[in-house]
Amino acid sequence: MGETLSFGKKERVSPIFTNAMMKKPPHFCEICAVLDSLYPDPPIPLQFSDAYTLLVAVVLSAQCTDKRVNEVTPRLWAHGTRPQDILALGETGISEIIRPCGLYQNKARAIYGLSEAIIQNYGGQVPSARDALEKLPGVGRKTANVILSHVFGVPAFAVDTHVHRLANRWGWSDATTPTGVEKDLCALFDDSEWTKRHLQMIYFGRNYCKAKGHDPNACPACALLV
Ligand code: SF4
Repeated sequence: MGETLSFGKKERVSPIFTNAMMKKPPHFCEICAVLDSLYPDPPIPLQFSDAYTLLVAVVLSAQCTDKRVNEVTPRLWAHGTRPQDILALGETGISEIIRPCGLYQNKARAIYGLSEAIIQNYGGQVPSARDALEKLPGVGRKTANVILSHVFGVPAFAVDTHVHRLANRWGWSDATTPTGVEKDLCALFDDSEWTKRHLQMIYFGRNYCKAKGHDPNACPACALLV
């Protein structure tokens, strides 16, 4: 098993997932088969070359498409891909480059701050411990999970808005918080599957199961649930 997962004491876990002999939700295996058939080997949608470049890309991806992030990050990396290179741009220089990603002032502050912290506290290397990651400016549990699972090979299930929505709609979790959904999904799948399922759910959410206007008749998954 991977790291020990810790969750807030008040976090509620869906009762159906607390049994030692866990019962899978209805049509669980069929939906997993759909995901496997649509996305057998889902790629990480953000372009990156190491932990730092992925960390910056994930910060930029908040309320922004991966396509836009992938268009913008090469303009940053033209100045170098080390925290020192980006720090040298200054907050203003960073914000001018990342402006197309939206929320650019907050994101520039976070990127500057996390770059500075990585240099000052971790010798210029992104830390591989969850606690240290979550202390970096602009880095929360979801971002830490992405870095842990995609770069450091530590099992972690990152829950974004797509994962949260699908888990609720498919009856895989009735938790209302990302941490609650994460705990339910971690209990539902073997930790060797967490990274793949996270990516599959993101792709399915984007392509089929949008927040509004979903069409059950055209949906390859929910037809199984009726
Ligand atoms: S029918 Fe709607 S809720 Fe169900 S998987 Fe398809 S898009 Fe998502």
